Amino acid sequence: MVTGDSEEQRPAWYLEPFEGESVSHYFGRFRRQPAVSISNPARLSRLAKMGPVLSRWEQFYFNPPPTQTELEAIAKLISLDVEKLMALFPPSGERTLHRSTRLCAACYRDAPYHRMEWQFQSVAGCEKHRLRLLSRCPACDTKIALPRDWELGACKQCGMKFVSMVKRQKCY
Ligand SMILES: [Zn+2]
Ligand SMILES: [Zn+2]
Repeated sequence: MVTGDSEEQRPAWYLEPFEGESVSHYFGRFRRQPAVSISNPARLSRLAKMGPVLSRWEQFYFNPPPTQTELEAIAKLISLDVEKLMALFPPSGERTLHRSTRLCAACYRDAPYHRMEWQFQSVAGCEKHRLRLLSRCPACDTKIALPRDWELGACKQCGMKFVSMVKRQKCY
């Protein structure tokens, strides 16, 4: 089993989260790893002896919020620190959008992953780039897919790359 360059022994499926990464994007990446290869989030939930909570989290449904027991069970299963797992979720009390997935294509160009804060209802745009967030493809108007399905980093309908959407983002 190859464990990378870390000094401590980590399992082949260990996956370090990115700074501010959303739970949906992280678990999409996690489940696609060759050492995991689990397409159905419910199956991963079952392995942690939980109900279908992972599927809800990946769709940004956090009501009811994850319990400590659930977080500990999934953290143990995937060999991630509970604190790092919790960082993938919105802070308690932060209201999140779940009907649409939002994207700052300029941030995605800097580092290709979905940021949890883009789903906060309190966030209307990207402060760093002073751009409004996209929730639909500027080329074909299809809704941006859930981050768990961002394997190709492009619109699933027309194939427009997320990085190419920067020039279509409006100022904020
Ligand atoms: Zn940005
Ligand atoms: Zn499109």
